[in-house]
Amino acid sequence: MNVILLGPPGAGKGTQAKRLTARFGIPQLSTGDILRKAAADGTPLGKKAKALMDAGKLVPDEIVNGIIDEALASGQAAKGFLLDGFPRTVPQATALDEMVQRRGTRIDRVVVLEVPTEVLVERLSGRATCPRCQTSYGKDSPPKRPGICDNDGEKLVVRPDDMPDRVRQRMLEYESKTALLTGYYKARGVVRPVNGVGTVDEVEKRIVQALQ
Ligand code: AMP
Repeated sequence: MNVILLGPPGAGKGTQAKRLTARFGIPQLSTGDILRKAAADGTPLGKKAKALMDAGKLVPDEIVNGIIDEALASGQAAKGFLLDGFPRTVPQATALDEMVQRRGTRIDRVVVLEVPTEVLVERLSGRATCPRCQTSYGKDSPPKRPGICDNDGEKLVVRPDDMPDRVRQRMLEYESKTALLTGYYKARGVVRPVNGVGTVDEVEKRIVQALQ
């Protein structure tokens, strides 16, 4: 099963992708996670992307297309994948179509997580993230020990792009470039809108239903 999780920043794509990965045994492919790791490791790719990411702007299509093509070529997604944060523009969606067609497969479902802006802003302003495993915590899903990741004991940090002015920029990027993708996939009958307001468990249940 090849699934895209679409939705604005703070909609819960990363959190839900991690849950669904555990449930279905297919990998989460997150361009944001991969870029943050590259930035932390100081690779040439990471250095190129970091300033744009910290400013809440999208990195160029060629960079993220290359990341996904490489991930698909590695064989880790042979049984399917959950894309989280990709595609984010129409050219990325076109490139993805080409990548999956080349491998004789297709996009089965596009889950669109719907969350009102005021809820997104509140979630992102209270969010802390593990720099190692990229798990996010918030008021609705706090870590067991304050400030410490449940998975690996790492100290949680606030992502630079979760600062209020960057959040506004990311919302603008979403509205002007990414929201169009629902229309892009609609004609294929694969789009499933899902209410993203509620507990992590509640939203997970709705997504699982939408995938059936
Ligand atoms: P995310 O973790 O998905 O919120 O992504 C964090 C940041 O990484 C974004 O604000 C962009 O700067 C960059 N990024 C991640 N995925 C993409 C993508 N598909 N296209 C362009 N930039 C991306």
